[in-house]
Formats: sequence, structure tokens, C-alpha cells
Amino acid sequence: MNELTAILESIPIDPLTGALAVPIYQTSTYRQEAPGVNKGFDYTRTNNPTRKILEDVIAKLENGKNGLAFASGLAAIDCVVKLLETGDEVLAVDDIYGGAYRLFTTVYNKFGITIKFVDTTNPENVSKAITPKTKLIWLESPTNPLLKISDIQKISEIAKKHNILVCVDNTFASPIFQKPLNLGADIVLHSATKYLGGHTDVLAGLVVTNSDELGEKLKYIQNATGGVLAPFDSWLIIRSIETLKIRVEQHAANAQKVAEFLQTRPEIKKLYYPGLKSHPNYDVCRRQQKLPGSIISFSLKEDTEENAVRFVTSTKIFKLAESLGGAKSLLCNPATMTHKSIPRERRISSGVTDSLIRLSVGLEDAEDQINDLKQALDKLSVTDADKKHTNHELYV
Ligand SMILES: *Cc1c(COP(=O)(O)O)cnc(C)c1O
Repeated sequence: MNELTAILESIPIDPLTGALAVPIYQTSTYRQEAPGVNKGFDYTRTNNPTRKILEDVIAKLENGKNGLAFASGLAAIDCVVKLLETGDEVLAVDDIYGGAYRLFTTVYNKFGITIKFVDTTNPENVSKAITPKTKLIWLESPTNPLLKISDIQKISEIAKKHNILVCVDNTFASPIFQKPLNLGADIVLHSATKYLGGHTDVLAGLVVTNSDELGEKLKYIQNATGGVLAPFDSWLIIRSIETLKIRVEQHAANAQKVAEFLQTRPEIKKLYYPGLKSHPNYDVCRRQQKLPGSIISFSLKEDTEENAVRFVTSTKIFKLAESLGGAKSLLCNPATMTHKSIPRERRISSGVTDSLIRLSVGLEDAEDQINDLKQALDKLSVTDADKKHTNHELYV
């Protein structure tokens, strides 16, 4: 069956009334016939019919068995980390999402869980960094904001040999472009706040596994710690999933055009988009993902915060805001916004320089998006020498 048809078919029609839209079970509790005798639901922290439908739909979409829905992407990450014990070590991609960096380094370090960052774009670096304490490999692919792509299949093979779990934050690719469980990962995770929600109106996190043992452990932690997704917010994500495939494909088509335009501009120092041949992980991306997605980052020749601020306050269609994956185009300066919790030295050495700008290419017409970026770039000064350097060698 065609994937879009399968997605639409996976969302059930209400057996009680025939309602096409999933009912919102806005209830905290359920009447029991006798203590412990119920219809599968006893308290909404543990289980809720609307949330359950979302959990089943995302499990199918990721080709897994067990789905779980959380109040945010970070609540989902937090649940996965709680599989670990004091003394365990995590190996994580060096260009990790700022919020995950903060969680690992300022919350879990207190509990004796340590994290080691490696450039996972080379699987050998992962092999070398593994110690007997390593229990979890944390990948994001593509990463936020530098769009690094890691070979999920190779890294999962390495991890299996050492009995290490692999969790992939699949937020940027969405389940339409990449299914990490098919590539050997144990856990896949989403900030559904982004493409799955798709309309910048809800916070949510999703986790899927294809092992019942792992699924049960995570479900236990979810219920024990309580960061569950509310019924109405579950409903919003279900509704958005109906159009997910059409949206992300249009986002990606626009992004390819925008990236090709940016490639010609002398104001830009480095351009990061895995759909360009100049991207160092272009081949892995083509093998691993259906399409490269719709996040583009670039740094400016004059690599200062002031120059970045000049740019991000000049665009009109691209709105200055944190977050990504919504219908409207957004842009941000990670150094002063999403990644300010990462120490400057670490941030710069990993490539997130002061002028770096991240675009979330939305669903407006690509020509309008390009014209908006063009007028903002025209406001930046460039030297005559810069103008000569719009060739590919300059681009990462
Ligand atoms: C936004 C984001 C998160 C965190 O999700 P929230 O829903 O904001 O808690 C995690 N990972 C990635 C890659 C993200 O972009």
C-alpha cells in the first residue's frame, strides 16, 4: 500500500459512533466495574484512549511495535535516559540539540551518568570511544543545527557487538524520510513539536521501539514519572499526521531550491544542507534518507553576532523564532538563541559560530522565500574579494 494511504488507514474510525475524527477523551479517570476490572483504562497518566491511538499510529509509522507519547521532546529524551543507572556512560553526537546537551550535562551528571561527545559522522570514532561503561549511543541525524548525518546502520552494528542501545533523535528527518528502526536502532525519538505537529501550535515528544522488553521498561518509567501527553495535544498530533507526508515533501522541495540559491551568494561563508553535493555526508544522506529535509544552516563571511542580527531582523517571510518544522518559514541565530546553553568555546569548535543562521524552510512559495532571503542578504556588506568566492570549495 502507498505510504500516505497506509497512514490515513492507520488512524481508526471511532467504533462507537463512526466519527471520522478521533474522539478526544478528556478524562482523568474511568469507572471500574469492580476493583481492577475495567475496559483497559484506569487513570490517564497510565493510559488514555486518544493518546493510545497516537502511540499506535507513530509505532506503525516508524515500523516499530511500541509507541509512547510525552508532553515534550525533552520529556521523551528524559524517559529514555532513565533506562540508565549511575556509572553508565552515554556516547553522543557532538552536534547535539542544545536542550539535550543541557539535560545530560547539568541534570544527569549529578546522578553519575556521564556523557562523551564524538563526531559520529565517522563510525570509527564511535568504535574507538566505546568503553565497558558505555550503555547508550545517542544519535541525531541530521543534527541540529549543522545537519551532520551519521550512518545509523553501521553504528547500530557496532553497538550490537557491545550490547549497547542506540537511540536516534529523528526529529529533523521525520518518519517519512528516515526509519531508524529499519536501520538497526533500538529506539527512535521525535520532538513532535516540529514536523509531526507541523503548525507551531503544540509541544509533544514521541518514542518508538520494536522490542517488547524495552517498550515495557519505557512505559513503566513514563507512568512512574508522569510526563505524558494530554488528550487534546495527542489529538492535534494525530490530525497533523494525516498531512505529514505531503507537508514534509513540499518543505524539502522548497529547501532544495533555497539551498541552491544560497550557494550562489558571496555573503555566505559556509553552507550546510545535505541535499547539496558539497555536503560531506551527501552520499550517506542519499542512502539513508528519502529526502534531505528542510533545515538549512549557514554562516556569514563577516562571522559576528551583529551581522547575524542584521540579517535575522531584515527578513519578512522568514520569521525570527526558535523552533522549526511549521508551515511558516522561521529563522534563528543558534548562538544567541537555541544553543546559548552550550559554552561558547565548545559551540564554536563544533562549528556553531557566532553568525550561524538556521532556516526552517516553510510551505510558502519557494520564489517568495528566495526573494525574502535575497533582500536581506543584499543589506550585508561584502568585499570585492568575497564576491569572487562563490565557488563550491568554500562550502562545507
Ligand atoms: C526541539 C528539539 C528537541 C526538544 O523537543 P521539545 O519538544 O522542544 O522538548 C529535541 N531534539 C531536537 C532535534 C529538536 O529539534
